[in-house]
Amino acid sequence: MSLNSNLPVEKLVGVGPKFAKKLKRLEIETYRDLLYHFPTRFEDYSRRASISRCQVGEPITITATVWHIKNNFTRRGFVKTSAILADNTGTIEAVWFNQSWVTNILKAGLTFQFSGKLKEFQDKAILINPDFEEPDKNLHTGRLTPIYPETDGVSSKWLRAKIYTILQAGIEEEEFLPPEILANEEFLPINAALAKIHFPQSFAEFEKAKKRLSFDEVFQLTLSVLSKKRQVKNMHAIPLKINNNLIADFAKSLPFKLTKGQEKAIGEVLQDLSQNHPAQRLIEGDVGSGKTVVVTAAILTACNNRTSAVMAAPTEILAFQHAENLKKMLEPFGIKVGLFTKSRKDKDAQVLVGTHALIKNDLSIKNLSLVVVDEQHKFGVSQRTELLKTNSKVPHLITMSATPIPRSLALTVFGDLDLTVISEMPPGRKPAKTYIVPPQKRETAGDFVKQEIKKGHQAFVVCPLIEESESLVSVKAAKVEFERLKNTVFNKIPIDLLHGRMKSVDKEKVLSKFATGETKILVSTAVVEVGIDIPAATVMIIEGTDRFGLAQLHQLRGRVGRAQDLSYCFLFSDNLSKNVRARLQALVRNSDGAKLAEIDLSLRGPGEFFGTAQHGFTRLKLAKLTDLQLIASARNWANKILEEDPTFSKFPKLAEIIKTSTSEEVTLS
Ligand code: ADP
Ligand code: MG
Repeated sequence: MSLNSNLPVEKLVGVGPKFAKKLKRLEIETYRDLLYHFPTRFEDYSRRASISRCQVGEPITITATVWHIKNNFTRRGFVKTSAILADNTGTIEAVWFNQSWVTNILKAGLTFQFSGKLKEFQDKAILINPDFEEPDKNLHTGRLTPIYPETDGVSSKWLRAKIYTILQAGIEEEEFLPPEILANEEFLPINAALAKIHFPQSFAEFEKAKKRLSFDEVFQLTLSVLSKKRQVKNMHAIPLKINNNLIADFAKSLPFKLTKGQEKAIGEVLQDLSQNHPAQRLIEGDVGSGKTVVVTAAILTACNNRTSAVMAAPTEILAFQHAENLKKMLEPFGIKVGLFTKSRKDKDAQVLVGTHALIKNDLSIKNLSLVVVDEQHKFGVSQRTELLKTNSKVPHLITMSATPIPRSLALTVFGDLDLTVISEMPPGRKPAKTYIVPPQKRETAGDFVKQEIKKGHQAFVVCPLIEESESLVSVKAAKVEFERLKNTVFNKIPIDLLHGRMKSVDKEKVLSKFATGETKILVSTAVVEVGIDIPAATVMIIEGTDRFGLAQLHQLRGRVGRAQDLSYCFLFSDNLSKNVRARLQALVRNSDGAKLAEIDLSLRGPGEFFGTAQHGFTRLKLAKLTDLQLIASARNWANKILEEDPTFSKFPKLAEIIKTSTSEEVTLS
């Protein structure tokens, strides 16, 4: 009989509620979790030698008898345990530091198996802190010994012993991969893979186990995403009639000519809307590439079909601005655009603009055929799923993002979305000239701002991001800076303050005054980061640049240079560490968001780049998302399985796994 892997860890000998809590910190709650707690590396203790053949510097395993052992207490409170070990070729000294318990087990005359590294110490070769156990047990010594992610009070040794016990007792995980995949890919069966990933006989064996288990991770993720995509294809949406003359009129009404990228994007979006299943499209384009016009064409189409549309923005400020923008573009076509905020829900508007939160909570809008979401990366998978549950007729969903999504992610976590990339910028855009300003040159920057304002231009002053979310501390910093500037450098210039903690009406007022050019300088917290569009703004000063990530700085800078005039970005920092300087220099030299994202990724590493809220990624313990070959193979198989058996009738276990993995949220930071 085999053990049930769903059993809680408390069933293990020596694991009480207190210890279970510690294990929970490692996300270990069941026997299965223990089996899926994979080693991060191995100590190679597989080489055995007789004492006379031991070499300094190499990890080795010996079988030896304890001749002599004793604890020495040093004056500084350390304990040093020294032992002489012998086999029939010679003797060797072993020491342990602060492990006085060793003498309770190792007694003179007893024989053990020892593994460790031989180090040269005061002209002698000494085994330092060797592991040991009874001869031929080969769990902690004499093998490739797995080292695990640990936590306070839970050592690799403990984990190793428990995982070994469970494997010995014979847990039989149910095989969930279809036999066809197992055979074709020559994968190890699941139970063999789980055994070998912890206790392989060789590194080759470990790699084989790892190959199978990494495939599992990506395959499950891909399968759930693609299966969701299929489900969406089977749902019903209102198919919208496309009126090409109307779209042509709309294009003509704009003060500029659409770029090729925008035209193509509009084509793809409208094609989606004409289908009778809900669109799920992501429009990706760098800051300022002109995504708003594209979705406005979609909204116009929705209205032309006598249905209504909703647009969701990440902040109230942006919602307000989008509403203003849409009004300008759509009112000439007789369409009423309204705001949907905490305090106000405009009645009889055909288009409502609000924040993500509001949109999510209230979709009881009559005849809703289209939902547009700005900044997709702040709008998680679960929110997308939520939308799908709304009505008998599901609205079409078009999302926008300025964050370049690496191909690997586009194929996996975002694989349920169709992708449109706008890769060109409107013509005549000149990248903002960017400068790192040392403290002694601040005044010059101030003079420069004044000159620009004389030319009829405007400026942003962005205050440091003190905490991730807009805290009172950040707000205070912005207030202080605002007062200082207002009373000193810019005392003769209309200047205003904007932050996320203001009342919506006040935000709207400040923003409209800046938009009409009545105010010349806007001091703000990082709330302007996304999407604010003020074409006459040509200067941006960013304070405390060391506190911002590269992608964020690029977003901020995207607030200027949105028209023909030359624009400038001044980066202030009192803390120019090497790392900060590298980041700022990257910004000075590059204006391409995709390129900067790559640099950011290499400077910070994937963990930080993707942010901590990447729950979807925590499932990927072994698989590397940079492994495009693995992703391609998993995707091919997932498509094949879905093609042949979309309801997983032949693979109930697979169906179960997919069901539990679709509810997770993934966001990009
Ligand atoms: P984003 O993609 O960052 O959301 P927006 O849609 O806000 O960019 O557009 C940025 C600015 O560029 C706006 O002022 C918009 O009116 C302008 N714009 C958009 N498309 C074009 C174009 N084809 N030619 C010139 N300006 C454009
Ligand atoms: Mg935008």
